[in-house]
Amino acid sequence: MNDKKEHDLATRLAHAGESPASRSGAVNPPALRASTLILPKAEDLYGGDVNTYGLHGMPVHDDLKAGLCALENASHCVLVESGLLACTLPIFTFVGAGEHVLVPDNAYGPTRRYCDRSLKRTGGSVTYYPPRIGADIADLIQDNTKLIIIEAPGSLTFETPDTRAIVAVAKARGILTATDNSWASGVCHNPLDLDVDMSLVATTKYVSGHSDGLSGAILTRSANLAARLEASRADLGLCLSSDDAAIALRGLRTLITRFRQHEASALIVASWLETQDEVVQVLHPALPSHPDHAIWKRDFTGASGLFGFVLEPSPESAVLAFLNALKIFGLGFSYGGYESLAIHCAPQLKRTTEKLNLGGPLLRLSIGLEQPDDLIADIERGLSAWRDAR
Ligand SMILES: *Cc1c(COP(=O)(O)O)cnc(C)c1O
Repeated sequence: MNDKKEHDLATRLAHAGESPASRSGAVNPPALRASTLILPKAEDLYGGDVNTYGLHGMPVHDDLKAGLCALENASHCVLVESGLLACTLPIFTFVGAGEHVLVPDNAYGPTRRYCDRSLKRTGGSVTYYPPRIGADIADLIQDNTKLIIIEAPGSLTFETPDTRAIVAVAKARGILTATDNSWASGVCHNPLDLDVDMSLVATTKYVSGHSDGLSGAILTRSANLAARLEASRADLGLCLSSDDAAIALRGLRTLITRFRQHEASALIVASWLETQDEVVQVLHPALPSHPDHAIWKRDFTGASGLFGFVLEPSPESAVLAFLNALKIFGLGFSYGGYESLAIHCAPQLKRTTEKLNLGGPLLRLSIGLEQPDDLIADIERGLSAWRDAR
């Protein structure tokens, strides 16, 4: 069923994986908790094709992999315990001692932390590049560059990279590419279709969708890359739990429907914010005002519910007053759940390639599945508290 490309993606996601007949008719696969697997015969202990240990996944993992492959038209999927691990495992695997990786200056903070700390310990090196670099990335490539990380769009500031230009340069130099595709979660952006080698997804976010699971996936069309990533996973003893795999698989079944609602509601809220006098700019690539809107239109088929906006210059105390006045938005990291979230970004904004001048304090909203009008009223509460505290 999952191979029938003539069906719409939503249909394929609803049916990806084994058929219920293989599990007594139950619609969902069991989240089997297993370390030891009892093998049918002695020959299987050290030979055979059979799975010999729980560390290498159970049927629920197989179904999740089939579904995620359907989502991004991938042929191989490596599952890990978090989105962060989906970002760091390729760096661990493909950037060895004496080798080099290029990472966007707006990369997800903990990915950057891995490059600054653990990558150094394993003898690798990193250069950060301005997110809008495009073909000029050629100037930063070294003889030992093995991997270019792309993030589409980048964390917090939502610059949207010119993936095609970067990939053209990488291909010509035989360098691997990997896109952190968590924002689009495979729904509205397909890096593999743009010849990126690996798509990295924090399935913790929209795929799981209910803020109760942690997981990550690396998707590729290369058997060789998948085998090398699987070898790293096995060497390090990494294994996504069956429970979290089941949560991600359940979320995947309703992903398209939820995602479209997140997208529509976020555009309502973002467009409203743009009309507010005290809002300096709204950082949402689907808005025509966004500087990367043309690239977004070219390479994306939609948008998620995560975006930023910048208030007029004001002290941090006023920004905190804004956040503390919110009643519907929760104050929390992450995104992709049914509930709306808000954070301010200043403490985690890090730039080393250029000076970031947004024109005021940056806040990030994850628009959940509440009524947009209720969310707008909540933001008005925040703005009123912010005005009083300015
Ligand atoms: C959340 C996020 C991750 C990490 O996902 P976790 O499952 O929370 O580890 C990686 N990249 C991006 C862009 C993210 O937003």
